[in-house]
Amino acid sequence: MKEQNDTVKITNTIRLPETELPRVVVIGGGFAGLSFVKKLKNTEVQVVVIDKNNFHQFQPLLYQVATSGIVPDSIVFPFRKQFKSYKNVFFRMAEVTNIDTETKQVVTDIGHVEYDYLVLATGSETNFFGLEDVQANSLGMKTIQEALDIRSLILQRFEKAVVTSDDATRDALTNFAVIGGGPAGVETVGAIAEFKKYILPKDYPDLDVSMMSIYLIESNDRLLKGMSDKSSEKALKYLNEMDVNVHLGTRVTSYDGLNIATINDKGFVAKSVIWTAGVKGNLPEGLDAKCFGGGNRLLVNDYSEVKGCTNVYAIGDISSMISEEYPYGHPMVAQTAIQQGDLLAHNLLNQMNGKALKKFEYNDKGSLATVGKRKAVADIGKFKFGGYFAWILWSVVHLMSISGFKNKLFVGINWTWSYFTYDKGNRLIVRRYKKGEKRD
Ligand SMILES: Cc1cc2nc3c(=O)[nH]c(=O)nc-3n(C[C@H](O)[C@H](O)[C@H](O)COP(=O)(O)OP(=O)(O)OC[C@H]3O[C@@H](n4cnc5c(N)ncnc54)[C@H](O)[C@@H]3O)c2cc1C
Repeated sequence: MKEQNDTVKITNTIRLPETELPRVVVIGGGFAGLSFVKKLKNTEVQVVVIDKNNFHQFQPLLYQVATSGIVPDSIVFPFRKQFKSYKNVFFRMAEVTNIDTETKQVVTDIGHVEYDYLVLATGSETNFFGLEDVQANSLGMKTIQEALDIRSLILQRFEKAVVTSDDATRDALTNFAVIGGGPAGVETVGAIAEFKKYILPKDYPDLDVSMMSIYLIESNDRLLKGMSDKSSEKALKYLNEMDVNVHLGTRVTSYDGLNIATINDKGFVAKSVIWTAGVKGNLPEGLDAKCFGGGNRLLVNDYSEVKGCTNVYAIGDISSMISEEYPYGHPMVAQTAIQQGDLLAHNLLNQMNGKALKKFEYNDKGSLATVGKRKAVADIGKFKFGGYFAWILWSVVHLMSISGFKNKLFVGINWTWSYFTYDKGNRLIVRRYKKGEKRD
């Protein structure tokens, strides 16, 4: 949470076509920002999309990149390709560093831009809850860059283990701990367990993989907190069958790069820790502290307008729209982001044309999480089920949601190939992971 900064250094203006139309600046082209912009295609507004990456990324499949299941290129989509027939949309790759709502300017690392309407869709980042040693020694999984780091890290650990003679060091190198038993943690740990079962014995025949321990550590007393008890129990059963050591009711308090300490004195030894235990709003500086609710998210009204600001909106993970049904804000998932983006575009056009606005109502289409091949859980309305059918549903829903026909095709082929061969073909250390190196 940042205090208002009135000594913002504004340098050059970002070059944009001059226009009489109102300018809508959108920061972030994730699920929320992209769905908003799609609805404004070729309308009577100038839309400026600013993102620090030149691509949209599909976060739900990051764990498959991290575990060598699919190539990174198949879950990202270039903004310039997306917007090629959007005559009123201009993309600028830049990192936004500050927002000045007094002068209506957005400051970036390449210059500043003025707005009539500002849409904040900057998503969320990993929350280490102030555990500095955990942050320094473990890896989060919020971006494609981080997923690639994890992929390299996993493979580098085995390359090192295979040449290590000391048993204790070799154990520590091959042990993996995932912290956080939400969908991302469950999916990641399941994929690592499959890696152990199907890939390692083939790739490292001279390494005894039976000694490898995989831990899933969760502070709650159950997995998949946002899903039904039935799904949570099923996920636990699947993970136990897959030889994952699940520790519930276990909060991690520190990690020095080797020893994981927890609140209930359970200790674990692992050289590799993946942290999926929390997220918080990810926002550039400049907005007043009173705009923020819990989790560094911006408080918005039912129309996504940021509390205390005029013509400034927030959608997706960065926003906290509190209602009776959602006292802590809506779920930080892709569906919320997409639906908020859609409605805001519709409302903004209506507002400009003097028409009535519609309040946001979340349409919960259900939740899915996969644990491994032929193992997934689904909560769809009153139907709670798991197993093969849930896994097929998960696969179809995710395949359909990826941007771009080519990406869908490549992921589909990849999945079909590994379904029949049990192979994960992308076990490449293209870029070595080096601890402490900033990637984005
Ligand atoms: C590993 C993982 C698995 C997930 N699985 C699921 C799932 O199965 N189902 C589901 O519904 N949800 C899932 N989610 C959650 C879902 O991905 C998020 O809720 C969704 O991405 C939120 O969309 P958003 O547009 O708010 O933010 P994002 O999609 O995160 O987009 C934010 C955008 O803002 C840009 N940005 C951020 N800061 C700046 C800045 N300062 N300057 C310029 N650009 C900036 C980023 O580059 C990014 O493009 C998962 C998330 C993760 C991390």
